[in-house]
Amino acid sequence: MGRSINVSDDCIFCKIVSGEIGSDIAYENDQVMAFNDISPKAPTHILVVPKTHIPTVADLTEDHQSLIAHLILTANKIAADAGLTGYRLVVNCNAEGGQEVYHLHLHIMGGRQMRWPPG
Ligand code: AMP
Ligand code: ZN
Repeated sequence: MGRSINVSDDCIFCKIVSGEIGSDIAYENDQVMAFNDISPKAPTHILVVPKTHIPTVADLTEDHQSLIAHLILTANKIAADAGLTGYRLVVNCNAEGGQEVYHLHLHIMGGRQMRWPPG
């Protein structure tokens, strides 16, 4: 039950997960997929998404605990495989949080000195 995959018909990341839209895949397993951001904001900029459609981080429930842990652990592995020693993990939530694509995703950004605050 925790492993079932929901799909939203008009979601670009669901289409990437299904293969309907091509992407530059960095990693994939049964629960998550990672692909290079089409408009990178850092030398390494990879998006990690759950295969199931969850619109925003605020939509996570207790049922998603293992999935969200898996998302972050996978991001760490991808960052290590990319040779990043320091990196930033970002989740934008809703319009005011800067979210543009409403399918939960973790940004892995690195390969340059990251500044704070991001603005
Ligand atoms: P956010 O503002 O957190 O919703 O981030 C959405 C990210 O998705 C942006 O960094 C976009 O550049 C990226 N993006 C949008 N469409 C695609 C696509 N087809 N393939 C890869 N990345 C995409
Ligand atoms: Zn989706």
